[in-house]
Amino acid sequence: MVTYDQFTAHCQAVLERLAQACQASGRSPSSVRLLPVTKTHPFEAAEFAHRFGLGSVGENRVQEALLKRPQSPTALRWELIGHLQSNKAKQALQAFDVLQSVDSAELAARLGRIATELGLNREVYVQVNSGDDPAKFGCDLAEAPAVLEALLPHRSLKVVGLMAIAPLSDDPAVARRTFAELRRCRDGLETRFGIKLPELSMGMSGDLELAVAEGSTCVRVGSALYGARPAQ
Ligand SMILES: *Cc1c(COP(=O)(O)O)cnc(C)c1O
Repeated sequence: MVTYDQFTAHCQAVLERLAQACQASGRSPSSVRLLPVTKTHPFEAAEFAHRFGLGSVGENRVQEALLKRPQSPTALRWELIGHLQSNKAKQALQAFDVLQSVDSAELAARLGRIATELGLNREVYVQVNSGDDPAKFGCDLAEAPAVLEALLPHRSLKVVGLMAIAPLSDDPAVARRTFAELRRCRDGLETRFGIKLPELSMGMSGDLELAVAEGSTCVRVGSALYGARPAQ
């Protein structure tokens, strides 16, 4: 785990990368937020993010967030970025403010019903496997309308946009295509449903420039801020 001074230097470096990427595509740096990914790191990682002035952290497991959150600054928002099994829907709604990984109509309906029962309001993203990667979660591009349709009736859930993870590849064109596909998917859904989906969560430590070039509004960054993760 890095020290707070190292973390600060890493944040500044990543913010500089984001600023350059925004400038290169004529975007305002304030149009992209940095979501620090604290998974596998001790709870201090979330405290570092808060101390630096970042408002949210990303975690990929419900249990891990439930353990860390009570020890962390209460003002932080917690965002689920990992696959959610439907039997953990209730715990996920309790542990997270934002769920970025809603990837099936069935999960969407279940989350909506339980959030209403519990009196909780949550922001959600539809996770789309826009890189068509068999190793990644997320609904297929063709399924995205059905997932969105299952979310929309639930007033407890506010759909703010889409999320994608690029396939692992040495070829940057693969990530770029994945991000462009997600943006096209979003544009199509906005037209078809007559709603706004302003958020595109895409880009990580290794590919955030490509994601910004394709319109990312949220880059999820772990290793570039906290160093390498221990093997899981
Ligand atoms: C772990 C993870 C990240 C962060 O990855 P880095 O390469 O460490 O920046 C981003 N998004 C998701 C969904 C993750 O699981």
